[in-house]
Amino acid sequence: MSEEGIHKELRVRRIQNGTVIDHIESGQALNVLKILGIPDSSQDVVSVLLNSHGKYGHKDVVKIESRELKAMEVDRIALIAPNATINIIRNYDVSQKKKVHIPEFVEGIVKCINPNCISNSNEPMTSKFNVASGNEKLVLRCSYCGRVISENIGEHLL
Ligand SMILES: [Zn+2]
Repeated sequence: MSEEGIHKELRVRRIQNGTVIDHIESGQALNVLKILGIPDSSQDVVSVLLNSHGKYGHKDVVKIESRELKAMEVDRIALIAPNATINIIRNYDVSQKKKVHIPEFVEGIVKCINPNCISNSNEPMTSKFNVASGNEKLVLRCSYCGRVISENIGEHLL
């Protein structure tokens, strides 16, 4: 195999079964993994492609072998990768392709930026946010204190 051939082989290695998350905004792949609890809570084999050349510029791609993401997990990703597409792979074929849906409510994913918020105290409170979207911009409003996060959501993940 030529050097170019090997290179290509590495880049496009297909997975037999699992999930491919495509069209992640460049630089957000590691945050996507964080939201999915990888690797802390899983033994999944994961490959990450950073700054891949896509049709519309650079993008990140995440491939998770032998695991099909559930809708609830997928929608959490929308917080930081609203344009992501989810491909469920079965026997090397794409058996389902879907867009992520921005959830109206998220729990236990994002940390409130208000240091005095009860969700940041020693009380065992789970962080909760209502999500509003408009003009391609997401706005998260804390259910406890009302503080709004509208930028760099990826930097406020728990
Ligand atoms: Zn708060």
